[in-house]
Amino acid sequence: MYHKQIEQLVMLQRIDGEILTLRTELDNAPQEIQSLEKRHQDAETARNVVLEKLGYLTDQLKRLENDMEEDHVRLRKSKSKMMMVGNSKEYHAMVREMDNLEKLNRSRDEEKAAFAEELERQTSAEQEVTAKAEAVSKELEVARAGLDERMQAARKRLDVLAGQRKEACKVLPPPILSRYEFIRSRLPNPVIVSVDQGVCAGCNISIPPQAFIELQKGQQILSCPNCQRLIFWVQHIAPQTTPEEGKDAKA
Ligand SMILES: [Zn+2]
Repeated sequence: MYHKQIEQLVMLQRIDGEILTLRTELDNAPQEIQSLEKRHQDAETARNVVLEKLGYLTDQLKRLENDMEEDHVRLRKSKSKMMMVGNSKEYHAMVREMDNLEKLNRSRDEEKAAFAEELERQTSAEQEVTAKAEAVSKELEVARAGLDERMQAARKRLDVLAGQRKEACKVLPPPILSRYEFIRSRLPNPVIVSVDQGVCAGCNISIPPQAFIELQKGQQILSCPNCQRLIFWVQHIAPQTTPEEGKDAKA
């Protein structure tokens, strides 16, 4: 009688433990997706920053090239005009103008080289951030697909467990079941725990020797004086492997 009830309570505990694990998983799953979405957004933002820089640099390079082209035209015109100047005063003025144009061109060359260098740097940065953004995007896609699958499996399993729980509750005497439910509503999981070598597995504290002797007699269902959980002597129940269904749900 006692042993059967303890066994049924332990079975109920297993069912409730799995239900709790599944519910936690269902609650946490959307958060995983959210944090992935955040990472995806950050990667896209980083990519846009680099793209903006690239656009700016490309524009600047084009502008410089236009300016340089105009200067070349001006320089050519000045050279041909020089052939036609009448006096040395005009001639010196022309030489100065050409000098200035050449200097300007040289500084533009340097500016252009600096822009080209930066453009190269940003181009490789762009490749990097694009690869990163694509990787996160793929990860997110896989996670979303996996999430739906996992949620569906978890809900299905929860339905099965609800049925099993109903059956397990049916065979327990009402006073014992209500004791179980009372503890379940007030303490964090688990409700019923083993006592091994006088130590409660729920709170890891030794129960008094007299209580341990009572427990070993196996006549009535006792509670741990410290944590109030239902207790059973570990040797009263054959060590059992995890229920098969439990393994399936986790796989
Ligand atoms: Zn305890």
